[in-house]
Amino acid sequence: MTTDNQSAETSEPEERSRNFIEQIVEADLAADTHQGRVHTRFPPEPNGYLHIGHAKSICLNFGIAKNYNGKCNLRFDDTNPAKEETEYVESIKQDVQWLGFDWDGIYFASDYFQQLYDYAIQLIQAGKAYVCSLSPEETREYRGGWDTVGEDSPYRERSVEENMDLFQRMKAGEFADGEHTLRAKIDMASPNMNMRDPAMYRIKHFHHHRTGDQWCIYPMYDFAHGICDSIEKITHSICTLEFEHHRPLYDWFLDELDIFRSRQYEFARLSMTHTLMSKRRLLELVQNNHVQGWDDPRMPTISGLRRRGYTPDAIRQFCSRIGVTKQNSTHDISWLEDALRAQLNKEAPRRAAVLRPLKVVIDNYEEGHVEMMEAVNNPEDPSAGTRQIPFTRELYIEQSDFMEDPPKKFFRLGPGREVRLRYGFFITCQEVIKDEEGNIVELRCTYDPETRGGQAPDGRKVRGTIHWVSAEHAVDAEVRLYDHLFETPDPNQVEEGKSYLDNLNPNSLEVLKNCKLEPSLGQARPGERFQFERLGYFCVDSEDSSETSPVFNRSVTLRDTWAKMQKKG
Ligand code: ATP
Ligand code: MG
Repeated sequence: MTTDNQSAETSEPEERSRNFIEQIVEADLAADTHQGRVHTRFPPEPNGYLHIGHAKSICLNFGIAKNYNGKCNLRFDDTNPAKEETEYVESIKQDVQWLGFDWDGIYFASDYFQQLYDYAIQLIQAGKAYVCSLSPEETREYRGGWDTVGEDSPYRERSVEENMDLFQRMKAGEFADGEHTLRAKIDMASPNMNMRDPAMYRIKHFHHHRTGDQWCIYPMYDFAHGICDSIEKITHSICTLEFEHHRPLYDWFLDELDIFRSRQYEFARLSMTHTLMSKRRLLELVQNNHVQGWDDPRMPTISGLRRRGYTPDAIRQFCSRIGVTKQNSTHDISWLEDALRAQLNKEAPRRAAVLRPLKVVIDNYEEGHVEMMEAVNNPEDPSAGTRQIPFTRELYIEQSDFMEDPPKKFFRLGPGREVRLRYGFFITCQEVIKDEEGNIVELRCTYDPETRGGQAPDGRKVRGTIHWVSAEHAVDAEVRLYDHLFETPDPNQVEEGKSYLDNLNPNSLEVLKNCKLEPSLGQARPGERFQFERLGYFCVDSEDSSETSPVFNRSVTLRDTWAKMQKKG
């Protein structure tokens, strides 16, 4: 059994050099920029579940706080009531903690709505913000393009009094959505589009998951984010690269308000092959039932990975291994799988499971007799000890471990051939029983009682060793084999007229209903992880599994079989 409840403290990622943000933090500490303080934050918008990309940001922000004796806040960036829900807030908290981190403070941007409003008033009074009454289309036209300068809004020179009056009436709910906006008065000719009098507030008559109907104007991200950072005295505000060109605006608000100067730093967001990270698209997959929910084990969400059988440690190791840079790149999903494999190879108990059973009857084995065989729990971990598994006359083996007409290199069972049953005896196939349609339904075999434990006293060798489960003792289970959600490495790359949905892998889930597991697996608890010998790593599904009908998920195969399959075509 592998456990989750170890914090990030206990599993130090392998030694590695400092990333560029850590170097900045160290330089700030050396220069005493913030009196020795390091304070980061992780600022998710509660409009979806966290995904593996967020894990990168979580490991970075909470990791820096931990490594430099600093603090890290969890802040919900809940400034867009139309898309946000309490369900998401709760899932985000759970996922951050599951990853092994704990926040120093937990805040919501909505906690600061009054303060943000007061700062907006301050900017209006300083002549740095104005109420603009252009329609959204007009606003776009006035803004200009990359190669043209913008044009001043006709409302730009409204008096402070008029702006105050209009803004207060915006807040009081006197106007409809879109009728007015509050804009920062910066520079309509700036080469940086973000500086062309960006919106600070919009009217949105919408119920907010925390503030209810108290507000009908909501601050824009660029206005709110830096101020929230400043209020919380965040020293290093870390975000992804697409915000690089927003940094001058971030600085502008803090400078004009003359409040605590948080600094923004940008790093490359994570993207990974065979999956997507856009919350909008992930939501689409959920809402249109392409997957069975946010925690579908095929999803790149933290909750999906958890249900799939991922450990927090494997995810942290992955994040540590990919590093933090300013170059956007796509990581092969096999890196994530390798991180899990490496951990489970060390820790997961080995068990026997037959996914596609074929009955074997050993004719010369006494009927009703049960022999307990000793099986090693984990060859990588002697302290895991051994267990007893029952051997009987009737067993199950994998259908794929038998071939009626085997090619030369097939060392498993065939007519007249002898193989070793792992932790059991040598058996020889004497007869193949078929049903009326010619399907193989049973093998009649004989065993050699002298080969108990896997050695023949006469020294004769067998090439193949296969696993098995006693028919009488087998636990019936459903096993779900998961594969990549998208067939193509880049799901967003599509031919004309097609969408990313056309790239979904039609074989991403295979459900096997008639699996036979060794008896000890009947006691496995939700979330528990195992290696099914020769098959891969599996965990008990946390939602659908019950004592009477267990369900296992394949977390990852033993090796990266995808690369091989692709080559074969
Ligand atoms: P989306 O655009 O899909 O909605 P987002 O970036 O808006 O995602 P947020 O909830 O705002 O999602 O993200 C919270 C934090 O996580 C931000 O600081 C963001 O930079 C970071 N983050 C989001 N996606 C990734 C990613 N793929 N790689 C690294 N960090 C990410
Ligand atoms: Mg965002």
